[in-house]
Amino acid sequence: MKPTIFWDFDGTLAWCDHIWSNSILKAIRRVNPGTPITLEEIRALNNSAYPWSTPQEPWGILTPQNWWGRLADSFEELLRHLGETRSNARAASVLIRETILDPSQYHLYGDTVYALQESLKRGYQNILLSNNYPELEEILGALGLRDYFSALAVSALAGFEKPRRELFDYAKELASNPQHCIMVGDSIPADIQGGNAAGMFTILVHQGQCPEAARCCQTLAEIFSSPQGLPFLPAEQD
Ligand SMILES: [Mg+2]
Repeated sequence: MKPTIFWDFDGTLAWCDHIWSNSILKAIRRVNPGTPITLEEIRALNNSAYPWSTPQEPWGILTPQNWWGRLADSFEELLRHLGETRSNARAASVLIRETILDPSQYHLYGDTVYALQESLKRGYQNILLSNNYPELEEILGALGLRDYFSALAVSALAGFEKPRRELFDYAKELASNPQHCIMVGDSIPADIQGGNAAGMFTILVHQGQCPEAARCCQTLAEIFSSPQGLPFLPAEQD
């Protein structure tokens, strides 16, 4: 089996501007245009609703409807806490899904496509390994990235979040259990500590230096231009 690069999504291949908090704000403004709620207020409270907030308590495998339903309950509670009426909070909480799933909210880094192409050109296979919602494949398709990946390991479909070993094992299985695995991501706990524990060569991107990562790169292109090269394969010969 080919050596494999496992890629995180958010903050690694694509970025968005506080997508969850902004989507909550957009939704409540649609329901109640005069709402005094601010992005800062939402951000201050919005850090424990998600399955990846507490990876030690796996959600298990839910239908997409139930996965979003569980989140909607948390969003409703948050909006109630910030003073919205029950009916406004409920109406907004069910609008958030469609806002999150709007591909125009996601932006690729300038070297995202280059990095995925370069990986394939050098003989690796690409697997996406993301803590994310069930429909991530649709977003990848809309962004033109789907075809660069042999498979997608998405936490909502696997029932576990990074850094849980179960999700890394699931991703490796999708990759046909390659001997050589590289994890590229922007989160130290999820991608670097999780990848290290799963026996992967870990590369931190977009985040400065971290002694726990085998390598740190400020850009995705740097992964392939670094003088050390990538492990497991010789550098491409021109
Ligand atoms: Mg990330």
